[in-house]
Amino acid sequence: MANLHFHYGVMSSSKSAALIINAHNFTKNGTQTEVIKPSFDTRFGKQKIVSRIGLEWDAMTMPNLQTYTPAPDTRVILVDEVQFFSPSDIDKLVHIADNHGRIVMCYGLMTDSNEKIFPASQRLIEVGAKLHRMESNCQINGCMKMATHHLRFDADGKVIHAGDQFALGDSNYKSVCRHHYNELYHNKQKTR
Ligand SMILES: [Zn+2]
Repeated sequence: MANLHFHYGVMSSSKSAALIINAHNFTKNGTQTEVIKPSFDTRFGKQKIVSRIGLEWDAMTMPNLQTYTPAPDTRVILVDEVQFFSPSDIDKLVHIADNHGRIVMCYGLMTDSNEKIFPASQRLIEVGAKLHRMESNCQINGCMKMATHHLRFDADGKVIHAGDQFALGDSNYKSVCRHHYNELYHNKQKTR
């Protein structure tokens, strides 16, 4: 079995629900599990991971992974929102997986709303994480294509083209297919 996994997908592709179900199953069969996620300040703390369908699970939050060491009997480490960690944090996870014999399962986004890959996600590919794509449909009404991109909207419903790779909260994002991304991001006219 691979010891480093990257479950990636757009927003609303059930990543947090999948993480929680995995955490539940591991815990139920007696496998010691730790769940971690990035914090957006310098503090270590506790927070819940909440999925859109109502599942929740306790997580440890940390600003980076440089001083992170799993408990001695932890076998599996589940990482939520992994795209917000840094490439060197990914290298730390590689070290934990390869030199300390743990299984590390990361969940997160591959690309931002400007079609650019997140550095941590890129690092996971570079180090050979096993890739698992979580699929969901385009959120433009009636479209059945697979969502591969994110569009970010301002308060007036206009597409935002610049700024942070990802702002907190997801109320102003839509997960869309490539066709609708190109049409709305680049303001292309419909070809039919
Ligand atoms: Zn679409």
